[in-house]
This record gives sequence, C-alpha cells and structure tokens, in this order.
Amino acid sequence: MKRLIYADNAATTQLDKNAFEAMQPFLLNEYGNASQPYSFSRAAKNAIRNSRETIARCIGASPEEILFTSGGTESDNWVIKGSAFYDEKKQETITSSIEHHAILRACEDIERIGYPVTYLSTDPSGTVQPEELSEKISSKTRLVSVMLANNEIGSIQDIAALAEISHLAGALFHTDAVQAVGHIKVDVDALGVDMLSASAHKFNGPKGIGFLYLRKGTPLRSYISGGAQESGMRAGTENVASIVGMAEALQKNVAGLEDTEIYLDKLEKKLLNVLHSGNIDFVRNGSKNHLPGNISLSFRNMDGEALLHRLDLLGICVSTGSACDSQNTQISHVLQAIGLDEVYAKGTIRISLSKYNTESDVQEIANALLRILR
Ligand code: PLP
Repeated sequence: MKRLIYADNAATTQLDKNAFEAMQPFLLNEYGNASQPYSFSRAAKNAIRNSRETIARCIGASPEEILFTSGGTESDNWVIKGSAFYDEKKQETITSSIEHHAILRACEDIERIGYPVTYLSTDPSGTVQPEELSEKISSKTRLVSVMLANNEIGSIQDIAALAEISHLAGALFHTDAVQAVGHIKVDVDALGVDMLSASAHKFNGPKGIGFLYLRKGTPLRSYISGGAQESGMRAGTENVASIVGMAEALQKNVAGLEDTEIYLDKLEKKLLNVLHSGNIDFVRNGSKNHLPGNISLSFRNMDGEALLHRLDLLGICVSTGSACDSQNTQISHVLQAIGLDEVYAKGTIRISLSKYNTESDVQEIANALLRILR
C-alpha cells in the first residue's frame, strides 16, 4: 500500500492519543449533562472545570476568561458580531486584508447592516505595519482584530504593538490565534489582547471544539441564545468529551513547544536546501518570523492545483492555499495582499509539517517536487 505523508497540518492535525483516551469515558459512561445538580453529573462538571483551568494556564489566563465554542469560526464570528452588536453607535471595526474568511465574511456581514469596517494592508512578507494602524485608528474605532499567525503563509504579527495602539485609541483588541495556539508561545498578558480565538483540531485536539478567551470586563454580546452555560454567554449543552480532549492536547503540545519548534525548523531547512540545490525557481512566502513548519512555496510558471494532484498521486497531502479555498483556483486573497507576482502566485502550495513528520517524509516530499518540477 502507498505510504501516506500528511503535510497539511495547518488544515487539521492528527488527534493526540492521550487526548483520545481522555475523551473516551465521557463518550461512553460519564454521559451526564454537566448542568444537572445530581451526583451522576459531577464527573462531567469536574472535567469541564479542570479543562478550563488547564487551558487558561496554557495561555496565561484565568479559568473564567475561557469560553468554550465549536471552534475557530464560531469564536471569530462571535467577536466580530458580538462586539459590533453591543454598540448602538455602530462604531468602526478594523481588521487586516489577510485574515481567515471566518473574520472577513463576518466583517462583510456587519458591513451589510451598516457597521463600518476598515481593512489594513500588509507588506510583501504578510506583516501588518503598526504605523498604518496608528494612521487609520480613531476615537470612532470600537474593535481591532488582527490574526496572530497567518494560515496560508505563516507570518506572525507584532500583536503586542498593535494591541497597544488600539488601547491608546480606546479600542478593544482581538486576535485570531487559531494557527498559533499550541504551536508558539501564547500569553494573553504579554500580547495585551482582550479577546483571542483558538481551535482544538489545529493542535492535535478533536474537531468541532475551540474556545474564546475573553478578558474579564470586556464588553461582548452573547452570540448563541438559550441556556445559561458558559456564564450565560454561550448557550448549549457542553461537549464534555471534546472539551477534555482539547485540554489534554493543548497541555501536551505546550509542554513540548520548544523541542517541536527546533525539530520543525530542522525539517524546514532540509526541504528548502534540497529545492535550492536542485536549482528550482521558487519563492518562499511569509515573514522571517513565521509559524514553525508552515512552508508556503510559489513555483514559477507552475499550477498549484496540478502540483497538489501530482503529489496526491504519490500519497503526499499538501494544500494550495487555505483548505477552505481548495475548490477555488483563483489566487488567494492572502497572496494578492502580499502582491506576489502572478507567474509565481499561480504555482503556490503550502506544506505544513508537524511533530509527527519525519526527516524521511521531508526527503520524499522534496524528491517528489524535484521530479515533478523538472
Ligand atoms: N482562523 C484561522 C486562522 C484558521 O486557520 C482557521 C481554520 O483553518 C479558522 C480560523 C477556522 O477554524 P475552525 O476550523 O476551527 O472553524
């Protein structure tokens, strides 16, 4: 059988074995509704409390500042809409042009009903310039939302600087940290953010679960109405097993963060060295300060979609842009925003490695690319 080389970890990751094991009791025996007062529900209630504490510890927050959601998309939509709808004066939201569609489409939704949105550009490395935010922000700005790390090209933003500018102007600051949490050190106080989105399936947790960090006292409308779960801010019976799996996976990833970063850096260098020594004409997108293992490559006069399918035939999974865009053959909004020349942009693939990838995986990916490109 053909060996699978999974190199699309920015799209989703393999569920951690310990996380899976931690989830099992809550799928089978401990199925009590955590909101019920009888003793049978105590295990579920305790598991949610412990998980909230674990997750809070991993990002330097307090447990009551962690609100469980169904994932990154919900957390992002909640922030953009919940912040706008709190504000009867319909004040401005500022975001960047390279955000994930979970932010961009939510911004389009509020724009359609009269809330103004301003979009920041980036430099060619995909970095938002704090000076541009300083120029555009005003006393009429309610919220600034800029992602911590970009999913397509891996660029990491200077969130602390952007948050400080926002606060000086009296605005709130949110960061979509879906690609960053569990991959680089994330501390909400060091970043100075009021809100932060995260998603478990990006850090070896289960799919369909995530969280929103909401700093104590930050004004935000509740997004899903119903029961009193999550301090009355997000209704719906808690997904106990997934919450437990998310906490276990995050704790494990955060404990191994530095080793994983060093390991992925080594794999990345190996891949790029092989391509360079094969005299391949390509550019590597993103900033110097980028997510470990996120390698966006643009090959001159190639078709990214065709490359993806040729690699797929060899059992290698990569992506052309963001996974949500894989049906779309147009140049992605991120590559357009960084101004990448079309002769390169059309031939873009994203290889995203994880701690589960090996040196031999990387050698095989590089060999396959050399064969295809030549
Ligand atoms: N934000 C970013 C930066 C992402 O990369 C993704 C997923 O690719 C999302 C948000 C959406 O997260 P989820 O898949 O948990 O809805």
